[in-house]
Amino acid sequence: DKLKESKVYMRALFDYTPLEDKATPCQEAGLPFKRGDILQVVSQDDQTWWQAKRVADCNLRAGLVPSKQFQERWDKTSIKHTPYYLKISLSNKCSGLRRSFRLSRKDRRGSSGEASVSDQNDTEFLTYEEVTRYQQKPNERPRLVVLIGSLGARINELKQKVIAENPHRYAVAVPHTTRPKKSHEKEGVEYHFVTKQVFDADAQNDKFIEYGEYKENLYGTSIEAIRSVQAKNKMCLVDVQPEALKALRTAEFKPYVIFVKPRIPESRRRRSAEEDLQEMHLSAQQTDQQYGHLVDRVLIKEDTASACAELRSILERLERETFWVPVSWAK
Ligand code: 5GP
Repeated sequence: DKLKESKVYMRALFDYTPLEDKATPCQEAGLPFKRGDILQVVSQDDQTWWQAKRVADCNLRAGLVPSKQFQERWDKTSIKHTPYYLKISLSNKCSGLRRSFRLSRKDRRGSSGEASVSDQNDTEFLTYEEVTRYQQKPNERPRLVVLIGSLGARINELKQKVIAENPHRYAVAVPHTTRPKKSHEKEGVEYHFVTKQVFDADAQNDKFIEYGEYKENLYGTSIEAIRSVQAKNKMCLVDVQPEALKALRTAEFKPYVIFVKPRIPESRRRRSAEEDLQEMHLSAQQTDQQYGHLVDRVLIKEDTASACAELRSILERLERETFWVPVSWAK
């Protein structure tokens, strides 16, 4: 029987609650799951209902889940006429329903969050992503570690600390800047110092994974900077705006995405006096809604020391253990 076992695994990109699903042929036969769960698809014989097991609970019987095709069709018809911002909030409110939300590819360019959904073909439906087990081989390039976070998570500090403890294994990608070099700085160490003309041309040619302006100077991290860290066989850590995630999700980089969230106790969140905390909480929620499906691991940051320890242990496991990655990365 083992031989016949299905090798198809899917990462669920939406929550599913059969008991709230009016379309299912049998609510009791449904398999509930949450976004991020890995499902072993036992049968795709039926076009509408797959049979699947959750990998986490190994001996559980298979249950019915909506097929990818069916789920996509449902998304198209149920939210086609709803404005973008409502789709997000709808999908959030009805997280129990069989409804995933969609994001326009244009999102990653516009940082304002005002996405356009005019072009149907430019739309991605968050249903399932086929995944496979992947373990880094000794001679292979380390995976890229991408840290994203909400306001107040102070990710750069975290990243710098972990690298300083172990500079032979971990490194940052050296950014480009147009600001003048200071006397103690060395070209290619703190930054690559370039003229505005060169920077602009590089930006035009999509050489940066992200860039921004600070005190009238431009700063940006290039794809080459990541490659050059990896060429030294070190693990490269970057912290980026989540918009950059889609561009980084390639077989070359095999990014492992860590979402750093500050821990804000419920009791403090409620007190309106603490506006900063409220804003931090909202910003984390927003990132979670829009990009949560691309996140491999959430790191709740209580204080810097414990967050560093946790990050260190994640990085160590990353080189040793097996992880689920999109099938296209493991070919
Ligand atoms: P400084 O000029 O003091 O070295 O850096 C000033 C600021 O530039 C830093 O606080 C940091 O926020 C920003 N910065 C440094 N590197 C990058 C980068 O690669 N991308 C962006 N967007 N900002 C950067």
